[in-house]
Amino acid sequence: MGKGTQESRTSCSRSWFSPLLWASWSISAPIVPAPLFAALNFLPHQRKWGEPSGAATAIGAMDKEYVGFAALPNQLHRKSVKKGFDFTLMVAGESGLGKSTLINSLFLTNLYEDRQIPEASARLTQTLTIERRGVEIEEGGIKVKLTVVDTPGFGDSVDCSDCWLPVVRFIEEQFEQYLRDESGLNRKNIQDSRVHCCLYFISPFGRGLRPLDVAFLRAVHEKVNIIPVIGKADALMPKETQALKQKIREQLKEEEINIYQFPECDSDEDEDFKRQDAEMKESIPFAVVGSCEVVRDGGPRPVRGRHYSWGTVEVENPHHCDFLNLRRMLVQTHLQDLKEVTHDLLYEGYRARCLQSLARPGARDRASRSKLSRQSATEIPLPMLPLADTEKLIREKDEELRRMQEMLEKMQAQMQLSQAQGEQSDAL
Ligand code: GDP
Repeated sequence: MGKGTQESRTSCSRSWFSPLLWASWSISAPIVPAPLFAALNFLPHQRKWGEPSGAATAIGAMDKEYVGFAALPNQLHRKSVKKGFDFTLMVAGESGLGKSTLINSLFLTNLYEDRQIPEASARLTQTLTIERRGVEIEEGGIKVKLTVVDTPGFGDSVDCSDCWLPVVRFIEEQFEQYLRDESGLNRKNIQDSRVHCCLYFISPFGRGLRPLDVAFLRAVHEKVNIIPVIGKADALMPKETQALKQKIREQLKEEEINIYQFPECDSDEDEDFKRQDAEMKESIPFAVVGSCEVVRDGGPRPVRGRHYSWGTVEVENPHHCDFLNLRRMLVQTHLQDLKEVTHDLLYEGYRARCLQSLARPGARDRASRSKLSRQSATEIPLPMLPLADTEKLIREKDEELRRMQEMLEKMQAQMQLSQAQGEQSDAL
């Protein structure tokens, strides 16, 4: 954890986490493809090859009941539920855009009880810090370990140049840690602290992305899944929201900033799912409203919302904002995909760059030289894992392996000796 990093851990129990939905993302990958499944079902018939065809059919039908491959997903489900789930979410963007409020609204918790907001004078010279807060959510026996990484102080200072560097460094430190753990001996129990998603807050009051937004997004877009959101969307009329969304989408394209790409919807999904998926994709950037208050506005039940003299903005009303779409996407439908993209694409990219630069002659010199010249974050040379450290790590691992080998040889020699002694005493 970098300098200025805080940690706190709370625990709560929530009602909207559907166990079935968690199960659906945990077991989606290993489903047996239909042709393979058909082939597996054929196995009992093959075993009874010599039987008359009628008997084979009868026994085959009987055996089919006992094969039980259909229960495979249940095994995976049980295993995943036992292990629990973890997810690391980063929130970034200007102070006061409603980041903490939205996190509390999304996860129905109060993660920011102990937050101290600095005075305006202190914020003029404040540098960005990284705060990590954890919450354990349990619902219907399903445990979720959620870590929220906050970036207080972002864009607060008068001089904001390079203010995103601590964020870039933090993301890469987590990759570096994972790389170290992966090359260690205890690979089975790696604690994954990599950032799986970054919610980037954009102001509703501007005319699109500001230069600071562009600089930040360019610096991190190849290292983390970015989901852009427009904070405090109740400040905008529906027409204004659409215009701002359109402008942001154009800017992202012009600046060649890669945000999280939603996977294509499977053709065999039902129509309702397809419609929701299309709606979600069209909503980007999500225009959200957050609130920690539950208001009674004459409706049948109290709702989470912001109460004004002219009416109430309901956080979970899809006609008022995209909160529900964002929560559905983040928790129910795309959480596993965000984790997979982090591992398969972003982390693999980091790892490949590390290996490439290790293979290049003079990499160490270049790395130290360009580290001194603090250019933009996108130009920070990779790997962040310095060569000297890597060499040290390899030496340590070699040493560990050598010690284990020695131990094994000693044990073998001892066993051989006691075996020989046993044989001698038998002969006598
Ligand atoms: P952060 O600094 O980005 O974490 O912002 P906070 O969550 O602390 O919110 C700053 C202020 O904005 C607080 O007074 C919140 O009540 C208010 N706020 C939060 N979300 C919204 C929103 O969606 N709409 C409006 N109008 N105000 C909000």
